[in-house]
Amino acid sequence: MVQDIVLGKFLYDLLPIAVGPFDEGKAVEGFANSAKEIFGIDKVEIRRLHGNGLNRESLDGYVINTKKAYIDNQLSEYSEFPKLIDRKHEGYSSCAIMPLIINGKAIGIIEFLSKIENRFSDEIVNSISIGAAFIGLAVGYAGEAALNKNLAKYFDSAFGTPEPHMMVNSNGIIVKANKSAIAALSLSLGSENSVENVLGCSFKELDALQDGKPIRRMLTINNEHRVFDIYSSKASQNTVYLFMDEVTERELFQGISASITSVKRVAILNLDKDFKVMGGFGNIDPMHQDFIDGIKGVKITDTLPQQESEKFLSSLNMGKNIVSKVDFSISGIKTSAYMSISKTGIGYVCIMLSAELEESVKRLANNLVDFVNATSDIVLLVDNSGIIIDTNMPAEQFLNYKKEELLGKDIRLLYSEQDILDRDIAYVKNRGKVDGSYVNMIKRNGEFLPATHSVRAFYTGSDYVYAIMIKELQTKRALDEMDTLIKKQDSQIKNFKMASELKSQFIYNISHELKTPLTNIKGFGKLLYDGEFGAVNGEQKEYIKTILDEADRLMLIITQVLDAAKLEANKVKLDLKEVNLSELYNNPSIKALEESAKTKGLSFAWNVNYDVPAITADPNRLIQVFVNLIGNSIKFTENGSITVHISKASKRSVMCEVIDTGIGISDEDKRKIFKKFYQASKKGLVKQDGSGTGLGLAITKEIIDLHRGKIKFDSHIGTGSRFWFTLPISQTQKQKSRN
Ligand code: ADP
Repeated sequence: MVQDIVLGKFLYDLLPIAVGPFDEGKAVEGFANSAKEIFGIDKVEIRRLHGNGLNRESLDGYVINTKKAYIDNQLSEYSEFPKLIDRKHEGYSSCAIMPLIINGKAIGIIEFLSKIENRFSDEIVNSISIGAAFIGLAVGYAGEAALNKNLAKYFDSAFGTPEPHMMVNSNGIIVKANKSAIAALSLSLGSENSVENVLGCSFKELDALQDGKPIRRMLTINNEHRVFDIYSSKASQNTVYLFMDEVTERELFQGISASITSVKRVAILNLDKDFKVMGGFGNIDPMHQDFIDGIKGVKITDTLPQQESEKFLSSLNMGKNIVSKVDFSISGIKTSAYMSISKTGIGYVCIMLSAELEESVKRLANNLVDFVNATSDIVLLVDNSGIIIDTNMPAEQFLNYKKEELLGKDIRLLYSEQDILDRDIAYVKNRGKVDGSYVNMIKRNGEFLPATHSVRAFYTGSDYVYAIMIKELQTKRALDEMDTLIKKQDSQIKNFKMASELKSQFIYNISHELKTPLTNIKGFGKLLYDGEFGAVNGEQKEYIKTILDEADRLMLIITQVLDAAKLEANKVKLDLKEVNLSELYNNPSIKALEESAKTKGLSFAWNVNYDVPAITADPNRLIQVFVNLIGNSIKFTENGSITVHISKASKRSVMCEVIDTGIGISDEDKRKIFKKFYQASKKGLVKQDGSGTGLGLAITKEIIDLHRGKIKFDSHIGTGSRFWFTLPISQTQKQKSRN
């Protein structure tokens, strides 16, 4: 130990010789003086050998040949080398003669002389050998700056610089290491510490290293991964000098900066003492292409609102670091970020963390709240102990509680099967999801509300919160039942429709079949009546007349039934023509009606306003409508008048009115007269007197519908009735066919 310190001091004293501009004379003098002083040596002499004038038999020759130090600790008159006898005469008692070796070649001799016997112990010889080696190196490479530097490093290391330094011999054994190396690598010097074992490099590898080019090695020291760059330079033929530069932090820093840059939400800026951005890495907003380049040279405090900037400055003045959320704008892009500025040796470091993520989480949360409020299901928010902390509107509606009553309530009280709730909560706590468990909720009045619930757990950062979504099943069941009912009714309607169509078809066919024999009955009846088959007496004629009347009536019924059936079965196609409504009056059917009205003592009028245009309609069907309406009026009027009035109702339609002063229609009958076979006077039965079938108005309505018109009436018992219908002036293509 003492030896180490002494050697250290010795080498330290030699340091200026190594690092200063090299002067051989001075170097030797310095070395001699240090050796004298430190080891108590009285004289040091250095001789350079030149040429071949060396006497092999002499002491110098011996030292050069053996390349070993020659020690004589008791000089005497009888020494084998005459030179040493001379030294004895000069008053010295012990000596050490060493070769000065450079690159394996002895280039000189160093002679140490002491007036004391036994001065050159092993330790001292060892120490001065190193010094001699050093001087040898210094001399050999005099002027070579690189060597000087390496030597400086070497000696530096002897005095505990923080970087590890080592010397390694050609066997790969670490022969010397400074304190840092010993501490960092937990070394104990000795043969077991080969450089191969410790650093994973062979001597050869290190020897071959070019100056300035390191080997990078990761070493695990005390379970810590540390990265070193190992620089090597040749100290002598058989020794390399190693300098280890720890780059762990630099590596870490590069990793951090790469990952921060790829995150694109974090930036670290290097600011000078005026807060100007000198550089940095990362990105605060992916919108920025080159965030760091864009912000370089910007005074960061200028980008902040004044208040924020002052807040930062004052807290920095007080030596505090604050993190503040700030909105600022860089190259025209607005950004919101958390910012922290702290002081460093060369200025400040500013860390920015984008607040965008937080904003989007907030937006998401708002959307969730929106959703909870908008859903028609019950949503209950429950804390870790089962207390309700929030609810939505449907919760109040379906459970019949007020929100205030639900808040703070234990949710178990709302469940009839608490074990299901406990089970489901436990399940979601273990990161499961519960969907559609059947439960019975208890309403405020104690009634059960059958439902299914879904449960989710949310971690709020400090505790769990549970969201329970409850779908009540009562409404759903009612809706389902209604749905089934509607479906059933739909199919019934379909059946009815089919039956009704079948019926129309049947009537249509049968009426047709009846018409032919009836025509024969009528024909032969008429021939009988007219006496074509022989004379008939008065009584017989009366009976035949009855047969003919009944046949007429039957024919009317059949014709109308056939017509109604045809209309109902959509078999009627309108034969559209231009119709002049004034001219209809001259139609023989209308004329015949006028005649019969007059016979009955009723006045008859057909009035058409001057502005009524010709219309497009099926003239025969139109006459049928008028015959039905006018016929009814005559039938149900005993005194007064029958008036037909035709006017223009609008730009596109005309209106036809048939007005009588007859018996009128009761309120009860008003609802039914358009129904088939309905006759007011007989309460639904076809009259026996041959005057009607109860089909006229039904057929009339169908015909007007076919024309896309409308029929209505008003009537008062005892005063008369007014039937009126509108017809479009022209029939468009679409209106012609009824769908
Ligand atoms: P009908 O062939 O029996 O006349 P309608 O369908 O034409 O059949 O008329 C049905 C019923 O409406 C008639 O039986 C009658 O009771 C009533 N009715 C129709 N027109 C009039 C009217 N102008 N005045 C009074 N009642 C009427």
